[in-house]
Amino acid sequence: MTDLRSILAEKFGFTSFRRGQEAIIQKILNQENVLGIMPTGGGKSICYQLPALLLDGLTLVISPLISLMKDQVDSLNDMGIPATFINSSLSYLEINQRLDDTKKGRIKLLYIAPERLESEEFLRLLETVQIDLLAVDEAHCISQWGHDFRPSYLKLAQMIQSLKQLPTVVALTATATQQVAQDISQLLSIPEQNQINTGFARENLAFQVVKEQKDSYLFTYLKTNKNQSGIIYATTRKEVERLYRLLRHNDFSVGMYHGGMDKKQRAKSQEDFLFERTQVIVATNAFGMGINKSNVRFVIHAQIPGNIESYYQEAGRAGRDGLASDAILLYAPQDLQIQHFFIEQSNLTHSYQQNEYEKLRQMNQYAHTQMCLQCYILRYFGENGQKCGKCSNCLDEREAVDITLDAQKILSCVKRMEERFGKTMVARVLTASKTKQVKDWHFDRLTTYGLMKGWSQKEVVSLIDYLTAEQYLTLSKGEFPKLIVSSTGIDVLLGKQKVYRKQAAVKQLADNDEL
Ligand code: ADP
Repeated sequence: MTDLRSILAEKFGFTSFRRGQEAIIQKILNQENVLGIMPTGGGKSICYQLPALLLDGLTLVISPLISLMKDQVDSLNDMGIPATFINSSLSYLEINQRLDDTKKGRIKLLYIAPERLESEEFLRLLETVQIDLLAVDEAHCISQWGHDFRPSYLKLAQMIQSLKQLPTVVALTATATQQVAQDISQLLSIPEQNQINTGFARENLAFQVVKEQKDSYLFTYLKTNKNQSGIIYATTRKEVERLYRLLRHNDFSVGMYHGGMDKKQRAKSQEDFLFERTQVIVATNAFGMGINKSNVRFVIHAQIPGNIESYYQEAGRAGRDGLASDAILLYAPQDLQIQHFFIEQSNLTHSYQQNEYEKLRQMNQYAHTQMCLQCYILRYFGENGQKCGKCSNCLDEREAVDITLDAQKILSCVKRMEERFGKTMVARVLTASKTKQVKDWHFDRLTTYGLMKGWSQKEVVSLIDYLTAEQYLTLSKGEFPKLIVSSTGIDVLLGKQKVYRKQAAVKQLADNDEL
């Protein structure tokens, strides 16, 4: 049997495999299709680069990240491994040259963007080449249920079938819910037992949800973390520009990056950040794909992203060197409306849109849960985790107060309204609102009408968010989700289970929340 470790040492200069790497490589060498799920920075590339050296034919790598492709090919070439890439940044002549090299067997690894699979000419070329291994990077893009679906990826299955000889397939991703993993496996014919999941947990990240005033929080944070590299993400270009100006005006070392800037400006901002001429970069999510800066000490989201996958991927750019780093979400409920707007304006099909709303809801609940934040994320990806001991919830020392009675009021009101309404309407009924809608539906005749009269609507909504995040309530799918009492919620109504909440949160949330 080939001694994989000595190849790892000789070719790549590493003394041991990281978790999952060897198992994935073994499967590939046994010509079994395999799906590897490893966290960002876990070392996915070696899983196909090492076998590529041992196989006779070509390893074709599909990757949507053009910037990363070049870096990888450069470093492979530096190691004396013949690799190249073909993408839209090249001229026709260059592409032909590289295709020719591939045909003549001079190349071991060929990187392409998925869009290349739409070119008939390219597909014809593939038929003439012996492809032993097909590596699909960022494989979640193949699934319609993933957060970054690329239709060209669907051509993969078809392409594989058109080849003379079936290659072994390795699919790799850092973000896959169970549904997405299933989708990948099905589309690429990967047997269920060949899913190698090293876990998503990023033990060096301290997750925090902050509900304070954003700008002043940022000032304090940046002052206490002077000289540390960090990324501040905002959703809109306008907010990126505002934060950039604000921080610059206050003498912080800061750069800016978004899709509206010209190519040259963007490249300069990126380099200034990479080479530490600026400490912090304020950016939209256009920044970061393929950026391999290992000592990013914090990633702050100044606005909530659209789903947990994106959040975890972006936050995961902190601490790739394994050292302790912060992943902070600055939460303000009004930011959700931007994400709602994006979904509304998208050209997605109805069911895909519903799926996006669902993802946004789960992201929102991240900001309301009191469970360990790392565990919340892991649960989202279908994994059980141990309390991390360092997130803002694990470190929250306030005492948990029994709020069973208030919870019962809400749950029973939801039941009396026949589980056909959302949180705003339920809050109106409980606080005895006299709005026309409440009267039209005759909710003022319900026994639960005005049960929480002393509360503001914001306070009730905040408690409903909490009960939803803790799964006493669930939400129907769609843009206007209806509240439904879950089976644990029923237990609370029956007095079989108590509900606790760290108490100061009620007040603090209510002060900040705006409906
Ligand atoms: P991913 O694609 O999973 O985010 P990469 O493949 O880019 O991660 O690897 C992340 C970093 O870890 C790279 O700098 C890589 O050289 C390094 N690395 C990968 N495997 C090992 C290993 N077995 N030992 C030490 N370093 C490794």
